[in-house]
Amino acid sequence: MSNYDDNEFKEIIESETGSGDAGETKRTQDHGSDRPETKCYICGRPESVTGPLMRIPNNICICKDCMQKTFDSMNNAGFPMGDFGFSFGGFPNMNLSVNNGKEDEEDEDPKKGTRTGGMPNISMINLADLAGMMPGAQRVKKKKPKKEKKVQPVLDIHSIPAPHKIKATLDEYVVGQEHAKKVMSVAVYNHYKRIFSEDEKNGNQDGVEIEKSNMLMVGPTGCGKTYLVKTLAQLLDVPLAITDATSLTEAGYIGDDIESVVSKLLAAADNDVERAEHGIIFIDEIDKIAKKKNAHQRDVSGESVQQGMLKLLEGAEVEVPVGASSKNAMVPMELVNTKNILFICGGAFPDLEDIIKERLNKNSSMGFQADLKDKYDEEENLLKYVTVEDIRKFGMIPEFIGRLPILFSLDALTEDMLVRILTEPKNAIVKQYQKLLSYDEVDLEFEQDALYAIAKRAKEKEVGARALRAIIEEFMLDIMYEIPKDDNIGRVVITRDYIENHGAPRIIMRGVPQIESAQ
Ligand code: ADP
Repeated sequence: MSNYDDNEFKEIIESETGSGDAGETKRTQDHGSDRPETKCYICGRPESVTGPLMRIPNNICICKDCMQKTFDSMNNAGFPMGDFGFSFGGFPNMNLSVNNGKEDEEDEDPKKGTRTGGMPNISMINLADLAGMMPGAQRVKKKKPKKEKKVQPVLDIHSIPAPHKIKATLDEYVVGQEHAKKVMSVAVYNHYKRIFSEDEKNGNQDGVEIEKSNMLMVGPTGCGKTYLVKTLAQLLDVPLAITDATSLTEAGYIGDDIESVVSKLLAAADNDVERAEHGIIFIDEIDKIAKKKNAHQRDVSGESVQQGMLKLLEGAEVEVPVGASSKNAMVPMELVNTKNILFICGGAFPDLEDIIKERLNKNSSMGFQADLKDKYDEEENLLKYVTVEDIRKFGMIPEFIGRLPILFSLDALTEDMLVRILTEPKNAIVKQYQKLLSYDEVDLEFEQDALYAIAKRAKEKEVGARALRAIIEEFMLDIMYEIPKDDNIGRVVITRDYIENHGAPRIIMRGVPQIESAQ
């Protein structure tokens, strides 16, 4: 609110200028009148847009922004101006000094800078104060600095909980994949223990250097690789960058530089280098950078990318652009050390099963205890037998695999697992729909048969759990559309017939225990 009313303001101006012509300096604007709206002399914007205009002699009106720009540029040009002051250069003896009623003090104190130290007869107006004095003018509310949303991490990396606790927390979100969750929990535990014990003791004193726990996970598409990493990063509250290896190319070629993954992580850490250095980088589709089999030309998106990633995986200081994905002269750079960044690579590795099967069959058909030659032909989850050798045969170079010492596989999702994914996790899809309908006070129920029918359909699509949401959404559309129309509906039961397209969901009206009706 203004400290002055209109008249007081006028008086101050008059007494300061020694002029009785209040009309020149009076700056109220009657928006309701028929007069054309006054515009800023410099930018031409009308007063309704700029806010109250400042009137100076010769009927010149200037908006606050232009006024500010003017004295900013004078300031830059070396005029000895006080903060937020402007001078009426060109108007001799004009001596305006308005400063929230403290003008006398200011006059006596040249250091405070409201008067132009070096320019006689010219002094400054504090625009910020003036804005408040103008009748009808509103002080621009200063934006409150955003309160940092401090999410309490479920697990604290500084006092990292034991692996079984990490796994128990993962269990709440990720269905199945018991082996993968166990391996990851141990790896993450060791990784952060290593970082923080090193930090605390100021370095490694006994000379035993614990290797980094970078991981390589192998599993069919949609089985939860990305989801596991995302969940883990969220639980630990560490920044996570997810990149697709297919977009990476050797530096200098079209595509993303390998170091761009670090710059993504820095962005995920809100440009906080220290936080980024404890983060996780997940590189998906890592199998796409396998050595090309018949490479007659330079393999810029395969082996070269693997070569280029070696130093990142091991730990190197890289200079990354802040707020951009590519380096150029205009972008500021930050040095990030990747030594403590946890790298997790994942891929579906198609055809890897054939390599594994071939090896297993070869081994088992040799020697006295030879098995049937095709013993593994029927095996569904061959990926669980994966070894470093298989990965090398697939096309990953030994140096690359050596820097991802933790190799494990994820299971392909069975129908049972898909049904559990639909219903069990904390934010399971079925729970989400139940919550949505509960706002309409309608109970939603899925028959067990219906859930299996959905899982079966999803399995046929061969994209893992990814198909589930699309299928459910297709069936829930009509329900979500129709149900809110009728307040009498109390319960909807999704039946197997409905999912198999030869029936309708069961609709149960409020107060009527078991009346079936078509949709
Ligand atoms: P990919 O293995 O190809 O990286 P994602 O992790 O992206 O697959 O999985 C896709 C989606 O499927 C996830 O967002 C998640 O909702 C769901 N999902 C996949 N696997 C699981 C699982 N084991 N438990 C719970 N949800 C899962």
